[in-house]
Amino acid sequence: MGSPRLVAVFLAGLLAALGMSCSSDTEVSGSSSKPETVATSDASLDAASVTTDTSIASLPTVVVTYSILASVVRKLLEDVADVVTVIPDGQDPHDFEPSPRDVERIINADFVVFNGLDLEEGLDDVLVNARNSGVPVFAIAEHVTTLDIVDVNDHSDHGHVHPGADSSHGHDDHDHSEDPHVWLSPHTIREALPALARAASDALGVDLTLAEESLDDQLAALDSELSELFSTVEKCQLVTGHNELGYFAQRYGCTVIAAILSSPSTNAEESAGNMEFVIDVIRSHDARVVFTSLGTNPAVAARVAEQAGAQLVEINTHYLGASESYISFIRTLGTTIATSLR
Ligand SMILES: [Zn+2]
Repeated sequence: MGSPRLVAVFLAGLLAALGMSCSSDTEVSGSSSKPETVATSDASLDAASVTTDTSIASLPTVVVTYSILASVVRKLLEDVADVVTVIPDGQDPHDFEPSPRDVERIINADFVVFNGLDLEEGLDDVLVNARNSGVPVFAIAEHVTTLDIVDVNDHSDHGHVHPGADSSHGHDDHDHSEDPHVWLSPHTIREALPALARAASDALGVDLTLAEESLDDQLAALDSELSELFSTVEKCQLVTGHNELGYFAQRYGCTVIAAILSSPSTNAEESAGNMEFVIDVIRSHDARVVFTSLGTNPAVAARVAEQAGAQLVEINTHYLGASESYISFIRTLGTTIATSLR
């Protein structure tokens, strides 16, 4: 898969099999015996085989779905691969839809890393196709201890009555009953690191022993730093935009007491009944902060905070933003939460 020509041939075959080739099916069929014809007869396929940045054309391409995970992978593969991100920084991974170019990138990649558990719902089909076609595809969530999705707004055992409370997991059509937000705990990312390093090493033919050790040390130090930070927070009660801080809360002794969207995805609607419920929970728990993030209606979040007499604090949970790396992203998130709650 390393050679651009082989990649073009492979892509041509795959697109034909998927019925996605628009003009040259006859040339594409039987492509394995006529690579030259295929590679030069279809401009779109030629374009797909060209690496965008010629200065790093000699490095294998590793495609990672979202920016936070890409930062982790980049640390591991520094100098041995060109790590590119599919979902633009600042865009919500829960509702991202890929362009044909994104599909090409994934199909052409030497190694693909994604989150899993339906975080990247819009990329599911292309990731399955890539995996079935022999592209090495690695899902972080398949290598960590996952948390079950719980309805954080179901406080029925504490005397709160949530109008939309439902004993089934989640409020959407997910097949999964596990929380996808694994990256929000560095400890959870550490769990996946040995398998990730092994898979990357196999896919790229490189020795990552030292890089893995170094990254593991950094993640362990970050985890300790956060544990220490949260040991100074007396009552870590979290009210969030959607149900996103489960892994973080579990690791650092916090409790998610309510979410404006009780769903583990942002693909849900705020309801008036739920708003009243969340306001009631904030008041009765004497919670002082509402944390909001990408994917939550800012006006709704502001109204909830105001009516509950709580401070509204914006946090960044689903993309790197101004953070230079995963380490600084988690550090900023932890510091913002801890400082707001003190
Ligand atoms: Zn989310």
